[in-house]
Amino acid sequence: MPENQNEHIAAENPETFTGLRLGPPKKAAAGVPAIVESFKQVFGEAGVLRGLKALNKLNQKGGFDCPSCAWPDPDDERSGIAEYCENGAKAIAEEATAKKLLADFFKAHTVSQLAALSDFEIGRKGRLAEPMYLPKGAENYQPISWNDAFHKIADALNSLSSPDEAVFYTSGRTGNEAAFLYQLFVREYGTNNLPDCSNMCHESSGVALSESLGIGKGSVTLDDFNKAEVIMILGQNPGTNHPRMLTALQKAKANGTTIISINPLPETGLMGFSNPQTLKGFLGMETALTDIFLQVKLNGDLPLLQAIELILFEEQQKNPGTVFDHDFIEKHTEGYESFKNHLLHQNIHALSQSSGIHINEIKTVVEALKNKSRIIVCWAMGLTQHKNAVDTIREIVNLLLLKGSIGKPGAGTCPVRGHSNVQGDRTVGIYEQPSRKFLDSIEKNFHFTPPAKHGYDVVESIKAMHEGKAKIFFAMGGNFLSATPDTLFTAEALQRCKLTVQVSTKLNRSHLVHGEEALILPCLGRSDKDTMNGEDQFVSCENSMGVVQQSKGVLDPVSDKLLSEPVIVCRLAKATLGNRSKVNWDKYMLHYDHIRDDIEKTIPGFDRYNERVRMPAGFYLPNCNRDGRFDTDSGKAKFNIATDKPLVLKEDELAMMTIRSHDQFNTTIYGLDDRYRGIYNERRVILMNQADMNRFGLKKEDVVDLYNFSDGKERVAHKFIVIPYAIPAGCTATYFPEANVLVPVSAVAEKSNTPMSKLVLIKLKKSS
Ligand code: SF4
Repeated sequence: MPENQNEHIAAENPETFTGLRLGPPKKAAAGVPAIVESFKQVFGEAGVLRGLKALNKLNQKGGFDCPSCAWPDPDDERSGIAEYCENGAKAIAEEATAKKLLADFFKAHTVSQLAALSDFEIGRKGRLAEPMYLPKGAENYQPISWNDAFHKIADALNSLSSPDEAVFYTSGRTGNEAAFLYQLFVREYGTNNLPDCSNMCHESSGVALSESLGIGKGSVTLDDFNKAEVIMILGQNPGTNHPRMLTALQKAKANGTTIISINPLPETGLMGFSNPQTLKGFLGMETALTDIFLQVKLNGDLPLLQAIELILFEEQQKNPGTVFDHDFIEKHTEGYESFKNHLLHQNIHALSQSSGIHINEIKTVVEALKNKSRIIVCWAMGLTQHKNAVDTIREIVNLLLLKGSIGKPGAGTCPVRGHSNVQGDRTVGIYEQPSRKFLDSIEKNFHFTPPAKHGYDVVESIKAMHEGKAKIFFAMGGNFLSATPDTLFTAEALQRCKLTVQVSTKLNRSHLVHGEEALILPCLGRSDKDTMNGEDQFVSCENSMGVVQQSKGVLDPVSDKLLSEPVIVCRLAKATLGNRSKVNWDKYMLHYDHIRDDIEKTIPGFDRYNERVRMPAGFYLPNCNRDGRFDTDSGKAKFNIATDKPLVLKEDELAMMTIRSHDQFNTTIYGLDDRYRGIYNERRVILMNQADMNRFGLKKEDVVDLYNFSDGKERVAHKFIVIPYAIPAGCTATYFPEANVLVPVSAVAEKSNTPMSKLVLIKLKKSS
């Protein structure tokens, strides 16, 4: 470990307060405050001209894809006013900032000084503008040429005793072209160690949907929202995390759709929406969105879904043939009888108790569902980051199968992805467990034999680095340390590496908690113009609903020392593999069309890629469920049997979930306010039920330390301000990354290995 680093200061945000102010939670999301906030951020960071230029092209046909969430754009007309939300604007403010970090900045600030800042302060410093190198034992990053940087990495990679000693992480910002080349390079180099941010978010959805339905992606399109009779939203906070989804919900609502929200928190965006693009919304008149809100306990979703199904069975018995789609069940599914037998042995009172929802409230959902078949179920991290996440998502599928609600208009599965191209990266090969079919296709098209042994996912990578089995960490984007669990353990893991390399647009904590040597490779962002041989290039991304579109930046890059991600991969591959590579990397650096041609050859669904990606709204990738097919081994959709194991808390324990604030996108902190929840200027807070506060002898704004004792180890997050909040008894919420230190690296979802960030057992003590 470098001597100049104080492990705790470097790895975590400072344990200091910024001045909490509290207000009432907002009744509706967006409205004029969202417009004000958007322009304030964008103009403040990028200036008016640069800011407007970027915003005018954000999510427009022929423009560039929002680097934030993966909510889809309309296929037809796009808004002439703004096809983006407040958080999309904030993401642009971050990226389009005119501030830049050159060698003099790093000369003036040591790594330890920068690491003592908060993530918010680090992010505000500006765009990385030239490659930087941190030699072993040095205090400051120093400039390095691109050539030297590539050769340093190549030498380090080639000196390992096995390619499996290197780990290659990908974040969801990376476009299809760079991601495809990256996995190609990594596989030709000789490993499948390709962890990605999907491992931490929707991996559970991918596993569950693949097992049940034969495809690891959602089945609905945006148009299905206009046709649905019922939309259920579980474990998702669209007002902050996918704000334009509120427009889709508002339209659905106008068509008479019933919206059911299931969440431990009454999130503002679920309750009401003031659409600033309508006169009513602009005047602050809100549309109520949710018809039925069930405030479920943390991890109460599985028993709740089973309780809904159980009461639906009763209704089916009362009115045979009117509730379930037996024709669909018979033709398209398997396992129905065993599933039914298992379910009918469940006790409705026990299910109600472990969900935290009274039977009468569950019956209101049953009433809304029983005569409907056009049902969409949406979900996000509130479901995927639990031990039983895969079973919970398969229970959603059980419900949809009972109702025949897959493969028809206005119905289906909708896992809402959090990062713009996380789904696309996986489609083009970023996966530590590649299928035989995919590897055969690589071999056929590129004439080398890729490794078959599965690689490390995120949690396995952290453990491998910690144990010294992995020695080089290369990150294509992201802020690995702040995104991952068990902060101090992960920090130690990174610090035990010989070399850590980050391809980034902005400075973040993962540059400051590093291996023996470290490199920062600054790349173009989505909004940046990417010109090659005098011709503007574009990349492409796949949104949550499987639409692939082009993304073409419009801003002049802040520095001429930035490279695009595809070029970084090509040059790294050439430096590392030299003559032993069978891939023509030079060709890809002439024009990105060549990359897309090779994606088309290798991966099904990309026929006429270069032609179709140039169509104004892109194209849909094939989706067997949409076509009424289930590509499982039997060709049938599968019912799943899951048993609820109720959570029993000890007297002094509480369940904690980590959440985002409204001024935050993943690990990027845009500001210190959480406007919708009425929490201002502070992030070190814990939301608690008043009854729990009474039980623990706490009053509003007391300061507590939070502990987790899993695996016989004490983890502590110091100094969190207690806020009474409408959250079920026994449950608490804290922001990440501040509370990630409490999430044990060993606590993962079954089958998907996703960290259990939504269910951490904690104890608390008043801070001294
Ligand atoms: S909804 Fe998501 S993709 Fe759309 S503008 Fe907002 S943050 Fe960007």
